[in-house]
Amino acid sequence: MEYPRIKVDLGKIEHNVATIMGICRGYDIEVAGVTKVFCGNPKIAQAYIDGGVSYLADSRIENLRGLKKLNIPKILLRLPMLSQVRQVVEYADISLNSEIATIRALSQEAEAIDKRHRIILMVDLGDLREGYYYEEEIFNILEEVKSLGGIELIGIGTNLTCYGGVIPEEWNLGKLMGISRSIEDEFDMDMKVISGGNSSSLHLLSKDGWIEGINNLRLGESLVLGLETAYGSRIDNTHDDAFKLEAEVIEAKVKPSMPVGKIGRDAFGEVPTFIDRGRRKRIICAVGKQDVEPGSLIPIDGELSILGGSSDHLILDGTDSNIDYAIGDIVEFKLTYGGILGAMTSEYIKKDIF
Ligand SMILES: *Cc1c(COP(=O)(O)O)cnc(C)c1O
Repeated sequence: MEYPRIKVDLGKIEHNVATIMGICRGYDIEVAGVTKVFCGNPKIAQAYIDGGVSYLADSRIENLRGLKKLNIPKILLRLPMLSQVRQVVEYADISLNSEIATIRALSQEAEAIDKRHRIILMVDLGDLREGYYYEEEIFNILEEVKSLGGIELIGIGTNLTCYGGVIPEEWNLGKLMGISRSIEDEFDMDMKVISGGNSSSLHLLSKDGWIEGINNLRLGESLVLGLETAYGSRIDNTHDDAFKLEAEVIEAKVKPSMPVGKIGRDAFGEVPTFIDRGRRKRIICAVGKQDVEPGSLIPIDGELSILGGSSDHLILDGTDSNIDYAIGDIVEFKLTYGGILGAMTSEYIKKDIF
């Protein structure tokens, strides 16, 4: 076996998806399964499909290209680059948009290959990442969008709790629904998809605070980790260990807990600080910040604690563990969402998907 290694349990992922689909169906919400955290891996995406998602969604066109063989509509989540519109109309059935110049370019490319590219217009409800903040700006482009031969506007959407940390609530999602009604009434357009955000919107379902008519969510973290992300609570009947990292011990020694000598900067330019806890058993694993941030790892042996790391080393305190770790042993970790993203992106980490 080769290490470090990320193990991905497809059965657990499918189970998470099925559980969350069960909740969403009760509110007539269709789910787009977000694949970016695992770089659009087709086997994991298939587990999403088996669990019941209606779409696959990714922020990167390269990942959607790799999912081409899976027969399900695909959504590009990040606003298209003008330099990529050709690939966007080829590999994405739907894209999220907020710039008329991009929409014009998409229309032109779509017409050139005899396609109609579907778009969802993004509304910024205050999180201040992508989308139209002033609704007049949306109303001002609708007549032109209608006239574009390569484009079909299928709905509107929003994204919250990403940049500004704004939590989805009845007032902001209600505003999205209001904009959708205005478009339907004043422009005689059918808003088929009203996409009410990401995993941070799920908390409204358990509180019965859902806005009727919002019929789509784009979910990543909740499917892979069983977490709603507005308050970080666990969703019942889900797994948080579908992804696990294994790393090999390359040194295990008792040493002082304070570095000895004058302290300058560490390998990343920070001045480190330490607490003197006497002599401790220190364990070094062969995985580093080039792969995952030490803070995004959660040792499954709860008596192990993470001291830190450098590019290629992870340093643990094993003094309190019942296990007497020795070189060659394998230490297992659960991962945060950021940890999964790093580990799946790192070429140095072997992928074991079963
Ligand atoms: C990443 C992303 C999502 C998924 O977010 P999660 O919090 O992982 O559910 C949804 N929409 C957009 C636009 C995204 O970029």
